[in-house]
Amino acid sequence: MTGLRGIHIFPAICLAAIVLAGCDTHKKVGPDKQSVQPANTLSVQEFAKFTGLTITKSTPMSAELTSNGVRVVVYVDPNGWVGLNGRRVGPIGGVVNYLGILYVPLDTVIQVRQLLAMGSVPVNPLTPIPTNPNGSHNPPPPVGPPYPTNPINPTNPPVRVSGRIVIDPGHGGKDPGTHGAGLTEKSVNLAVALGVAGDLRLHGVDVVITRRDDTFVDLTDRIAVANNWKADAFVCIHTDYSKNGAAVGHSILLPRGDSGRAARLANLISRNLASIGSPSYSIRRDDRNLCVLRNARVTAVLVEMGFLSHPADAARLGDSGFQSKIATAISDGIVQYLQGK
Ligand SMILES: [Zn+2]
Repeated sequence: MTGLRGIHIFPAICLAAIVLAGCDTHKKVGPDKQSVQPANTLSVQEFAKFTGLTITKSTPMSAELTSNGVRVVVYVDPNGWVGLNGRRVGPIGGVVNYLGILYVPLDTVIQVRQLLAMGSVPVNPLTPIPTNPNGSHNPPPPVGPPYPTNPINPTNPPVRVSGRIVIDPGHGGKDPGTHGAGLTEKSVNLAVALGVAGDLRLHGVDVVITRRDDTFVDLTDRIAVANNWKADAFVCIHTDYSKNGAAVGHSILLPRGDSGRAARLANLISRNLASIGSPSYSIRRDDRNLCVLRNARVTAVLVEMGFLSHPADAARLGDSGFQSKIATAISDGIVQYLQGK
């Protein structure tokens, strides 16, 4: 169910942490180098998430991702490339190291995912990754012919849509947020938020994420990024906890002065979350006067993905497969918002 349902008074502990973290509104912060990645790329971490592969080796110059007989090797080099079981995927020289993180062209990632989905990747292991992480070697060439550039039979290619979105994984570093069922909020938030950011990039959306690891970021800096960048939307990702053990499902908070745009975005996100089995607990105007919503000069929503205090929600939130589903649901809602639906 979606729609404005009034104010709920159950204590949401993670929100209290937001209020306590302070809010200096005089700072001027924009997207910095560390939060913006090369256009039309995914990091190797995002690459792994979208292909279901596990990063088994990582150096400043290369990475290896594997799963069940599949082996992807990513080389950074002027002649670098992405290899999938001995054959090259995508263009030569397309892999870059930017501020210590390896980035792969989006089209290459999509192609790898589609090849894996087809289930017909030939077994043909690559030459092992060179051990010298900073060597000026030429990587060993793939042993088979490259995969054709556009051979794939895309069943559901991502809809292309333009827009600027800031994704804000709540808490981080010294601020863990709430916890329950063996889960810590900041970790759940980050896992889902990285998925949302990656999904949006697959759609061609420009994305800034306010943190990409377990670091503390000032609340004012988070919203300032969105304001100064004039983002189309600022989406905070949080996890809830309630003393009312029966509380279950997702909630979405809107700025008190919302003109209707945040409500539209919230309803789209909520509809997609409901479709994967996460019930709508509430969509409501901010009853806590939260820093990040109070100071938003762009469309802003805060998504509470579910309650760690509820066994069903906690089981879903702790499952990496369901985290991916949540990420896709949220990103689909954002894409639909950008499409004007
Ligand atoms: Zn929180």
